[in-house]
Amino acid sequence: MSLISAALGRISPSPTLAMTSRVLDLKAQGVAVIGLAAGEPDFDTPDFVKDAAIEAIRAGKTKYTNVDGTAELKAAIVAKFKRDNDLSYETSQISVNVGGKHTLFNALVATVEEGDEVIIPAPYWVSYPDIVQFCGGTPVIVPAGASQGYKIAPDQLEAAITPRTKWLILNSPSNPTGAAYTAAELKALGEVLLRHPHVWVMADDMYEHITYGDFEFATIAQVVPELYERTLTVNGCSKAYSMTGWRIGFAGGPVRLIKAMAKLQSQSTSNPCSIAQAAATAALNGPQDFLKDRNAAFERRRDLVCSMLNQVNGIHCPRPDGAFYVYPDVSGLIGKQTPGGKTIDTDEALIDYLLDDARVAAVHGAAFGLSPAFRISYATSEELLTEACQRIQTACAALR
Ligand code: PLP
Repeated sequence: MSLISAALGRISPSPTLAMTSRVLDLKAQGVAVIGLAAGEPDFDTPDFVKDAAIEAIRAGKTKYTNVDGTAELKAAIVAKFKRDNDLSYETSQISVNVGGKHTLFNALVATVEEGDEVIIPAPYWVSYPDIVQFCGGTPVIVPAGASQGYKIAPDQLEAAITPRTKWLILNSPSNPTGAAYTAAELKALGEVLLRHPHVWVMADDMYEHITYGDFEFATIAQVVPELYERTLTVNGCSKAYSMTGWRIGFAGGPVRLIKAMAKLQSQSTSNPCSIAQAAATAALNGPQDFLKDRNAAFERRRDLVCSMLNQVNGIHCPRPDGAFYVYPDVSGLIGKQTPGGKTIDTDEALIDYLLDDARVAAVHGAAFGLSPAFRISYATSEELLTEACQRIQTACAALR
């Protein structure tokens, strides 16, 4: 009898976290590697959020809370959904969890059964297919390459739906591409979904607040109100408020789903950290204007990285509307040889070459289900990004 369960055998460790630990190992050995693999903002958590946490500790908010969130945080989330998305939820429709990943995990574990299908556009955030497989479900991957702006088209969605489809997972702006759906694009996808009332929608809006230029963020339950009753709108504090370590994610959705998620959570993590919940309440209720300055910095970095990568022969880097990632297509580099005589036959070989020769860490496209490409997180200083892109330029120019 095997010690490890079959369910666990169906998943792999997160490839983005694996690259991050390779970088930490190299740095510990004194290698000057530039890590562009981690998916977190380099900005600090705002002081007013930290202060709220310290105050919560002093006020003795250090005990168990309601399983799926304090009344204060749920009220702040209700207000956030109304303010930012014009979505009306009651507090009974809100679930607070230990990070956005936990929100998605709870929702999928609570609903997906053996044989259920979950439609996942690729490139996708690495955890979606694994969580679906953990549940015994089948990920149905719909490829959306650079030529279609890394966004699925309505006819692709229509073709992917079967009687076994349980969910469509829609992540905008996207990790790993930064691509973001406009309201019109969401409406067109919504029209397909209206023809298939058994399909639920998981809108992963983790990067809602990180968008550029005149792009206007929209979420599907807002754009297609008829889908409100079968949409789980997922968001969190990790990215917008630079709170990745605090572990607060949340969602708004139909009461029966929210209740099911709470039941699962009551038998696993119980409540998210009480102090992190107080901090999240302050983040959502507090001033939001600092987001603009941070976005302006991200936008400069995006432009810098896109322009430097597009100078490389063989790399095509689309300019995304949101998040802090670029996902250059590297078809033009596949088949080339490194100065050491190795063939770059996959994007993984390219990433190994860039790590070994250029000392730049990125994540290969195969990890996100669409090759050949790689993901760079530009959540670091312009100085480091310039140095990293110069190294990539030199390393790619040396390929024959
Ligand atoms: N969804 C997407 C698209 C993400 O990129 C991430 C984090 O990288 C998450 C969800 C989960 O965020 P959290 O760190 O709050 O678990």
